[in-house]
Amino acid sequence: MEILIVFGTRPEAIKMAPLYHELQKSSIEVKICVTAQHREMLDQVLDFFEIVPDYDLDLMQANQTLNGLSAKIFIKIDEVLTIEQPDLVLVHGDTTTSSIVALAAFHLGIRVGHVEAGLRTYNKKAPFPEEINRQITSRIADIHFTPTKQATQNLLKEGILQDYIVETGNTVIDALFWTLHKIEKEDYSHLEIEELKRILPADKKIVLVTGHRRENIGEGFHNLCEALLKVSEREDVVIVYPVHLNPNVKDVVHELLSNKENIQLIAPVSYPAFVWLMQQSYLIVTDSGGIQEEAPSLGKPVIVTRTVSERPEGVEAGFSTLVGTDRKKIINAIQDILDNFTGFDSPMNPYGNGNASKRIVDFLSHYFIG
Ligand code: UDP
Repeated sequence: MEILIVFGTRPEAIKMAPLYHELQKSSIEVKICVTAQHREMLDQVLDFFEIVPDYDLDLMQANQTLNGLSAKIFIKIDEVLTIEQPDLVLVHGDTTTSSIVALAAFHLGIRVGHVEAGLRTYNKKAPFPEEINRQITSRIADIHFTPTKQATQNLLKEGILQDYIVETGNTVIDALFWTLHKIEKEDYSHLEIEELKRILPADKKIVLVTGHRRENIGEGFHNLCEALLKVSEREDVVIVYPVHLNPNVKDVVHELLSNKENIQLIAPVSYPAFVWLMQQSYLIVTDSGGIQEEAPSLGKPVIVTRTVSERPEGVEAGFSTLVGTDRKKIINAIQDILDNFTGFDSPMNPYGNGNASKRIVDFLSHYFIG
């Protein structure tokens, strides 16, 4: 029995890495194909998790349109699927890679499993691709691995039968625990972490910032930067911002925040360095999905620069707060946490406990025997 895992971006790689290693321990044959919808940021993750893809489609190009990328994925993945003829293709989440590869597999009569299935905003606002990518993938998939009860409920409401849904928790928590275990070893040393220790003053509260969503490009990032400038006037704070490589994000952030006191703009860091940064931080400001899932396990509050989230569990449990991209709201939310946060009452992470990959592999082992 053979499974082909296909992904293309940094977060997918982080979330599929533990599953790949778990599958390798099983009797199922597993291969990896990367579309490389991201390049450098994907490679950082492949290196850390010691993954050498069997196929690398190398499709990233500056300024390519989603339609151009989709067309290239269709053509290239068709070749790979035709050669490999896997019994199952596993895709992840909500990227263009996931939805197009799922459809290509369907066209060839190959079964599809969807990891991190069932997340929804039901806000299908064009041209932002995530929500439609996840909905398309749900329509095609034969097995749905959901991270939470809410995600399972979403799929049931859409008419997907319980028999085809497996609730597992999110594999990102497996990746996080694996990484923490590694970086907390006494003899672990990492160049990027050493460099971060050198540039970050030990006596200040770290505000860690990331952002990449298309819906925030333009006014959203502009407002975020203005808010960070205001917060950086505080003497007790240092803002650390690994800036996404998308030029539409990078250009505005560098223009507004370069060479400012109490603000460190850095390039995206490797996963272990980012996990280390999250551990050191006082709070995190982000539009990222994965970070909303990871932060509760580290006891860090998250301010989400979005007005909706397909991850309501963290908001409901009080781990994250949706503030959108209004400058004043971002400033107030940051100040409030800096001045008043004393820790969470219950550290139970609603996104998982580190066993998701094992649950998926247990299911797949029986699925193939049955
Ligand atoms: N991350 C990383 N290096 C960074 C910034 C983030 O390794 O410089 C990790 C982070 O821990 C999380 C993932 O990348 O697991 C989030 O990726 P992103 O925000 O690009 O995508 P999303 O989570 O929104 O899908």
